[in-house]
Amino acid sequence: MRPYHPPAVPRRATKRGIERTPLERDCDVLICGGSFAGLAVARELAGSGAEVLLIDRYEIGERQTSACGIPTGWLEALDLQRSLRQTFGELVIHTPFTTVRYRLPWTFSTFDYRTLCELLADQGAFTFETAKVDGRTGKVVHTDRGDIRAAMIVDALGWRRVLGAGDNIQPPDALLSRGLEVHPHDTGGDMEIWIDRSYVPAGYGWSFPAGDELRIGVGSFDPRFHVREPTVRLATDLAADSVRYQGNWIPHALRNATEDGLFFVGDSAGHCLPLTAEGIRTALYFGLAVGRELSDVVGGRRSVPDALSSYSRFSASHARAFEWMLRCQRLVPRVAPRMLAGALRAMDTQRFLDWAFGHYLEIAHPRFVAAGPRRSSPQVRVPA
Ligand SMILES: Cc1cc2nc3c(=O)[nH]c(=O)nc-3n(C[C@H](O)[C@H](O)[C@H](O)COP(=O)(O)OP(=O)(O)OC[C@H]3O[C@@H](n4cnc5c(N)ncnc54)[C@H](O)[C@@H]3O)c2cc1C
Repeated sequence: MRPYHPPAVPRRATKRGIERTPLERDCDVLICGGSFAGLAVARELAGSGAEVLLIDRYEIGERQTSACGIPTGWLEALDLQRSLRQTFGELVIHTPFTTVRYRLPWTFSTFDYRTLCELLADQGAFTFETAKVDGRTGKVVHTDRGDIRAAMIVDALGWRRVLGAGDNIQPPDALLSRGLEVHPHDTGGDMEIWIDRSYVPAGYGWSFPAGDELRIGVGSFDPRFHVREPTVRLATDLAADSVRYQGNWIPHALRNATEDGLFFVGDSAGHCLPLTAEGIRTALYFGLAVGRELSDVVGGRRSVPDALSSYSRFSASHARAFEWMLRCQRLVPRVAPRMLAGALRAMDTQRFLDWAFGHYLEIAHPRFVAAGPRRSSPQVRVPA
């Protein structure tokens, strides 16, 4: 097994032509999906001695999947600071009747997707192949390059949950939000969001500066509401160009974290937080948890069924926080705009902000990184 070494020059690496050899093989752990969740699983398996194969339809870091905003503590805890683009100590919220500027008890940062993925991949030891996952039969995963068999399989493939049992629910019926953003070359000093029904009836708009680019977008909690026109309008209102689009569906409810003997993590397990649609740190957090369970299996400290039920319980132990945030997601669009403005102003006391944002960070705290077997520090407390 060779450690993963990212290509020195960016290139489209989905193998083509004669490079696209059949990929029929066995391995100990098969991780499907090489973004935040999948790379976190692989990181935690480094040094376990397992033969790990990670597959994705794109090269690692090739296809950005978000605005790439995260609590800075997560970049520090995972030693990913080299990917950092810009840091914010405040959150600016605009509504039609007020603007508030909240001082956060911790900072938030934007990062460069490719750099972060490459740094995280460097912390793992796995074989990487580009392949499109089409489905599975039992413990055999079918890809466009052939079948792969593995004792332990992880679905980190995002919202589609490609390896789930049965037919997956598709939009607009599934509990999904949708988000779209543009990335104009421009600069800004503030992390801003807009809760404004003229852009989206239920959801919010954002502008996240990231060094020499802005990430301006609109997310709708209602999957039937299209976000392209409001995204362009928000960019126009901010005198920015609507260029370099990227968007996706975002699950806003927890799903089963295990099914049919497989591990699901990140968006495939509905690990993105409702209301804020923050899904990167949770994908990392639950990815580390899966990696630790699998390391225990490889090390002979527990069986696969034990690891499955332990991880399933761990994911489910966060249900209360996810449900509470989903309730807020449903409530906020129903509050009259003037009342919402009053409530946002009333919340602008440092004591309340420290309490609220402190609890919010606790849902997936960066101290979890140091709590694992790769570091020697006390076991992290699992939120009630
Ligand atoms: C517009 C937008 C902005 C966002 N901004 C933020 C933000 O600033 N901060 C934040 O915390 N969250 C944000 N989110 C949410 C966040 O992007 C997701 O929650 C997060 O990316 C989930 O990580 P993941 O690893 O589970 O899945 P993904 O990042 O979706 O990765 C899935 C991986 O699987 C691969 N894949 C998928 N299907 C197949 C297949 N069939 N075969 C092979 N490979 C496949 C993909 O190529 C990809 O690499 C945003 C979402 C959107 C849509």
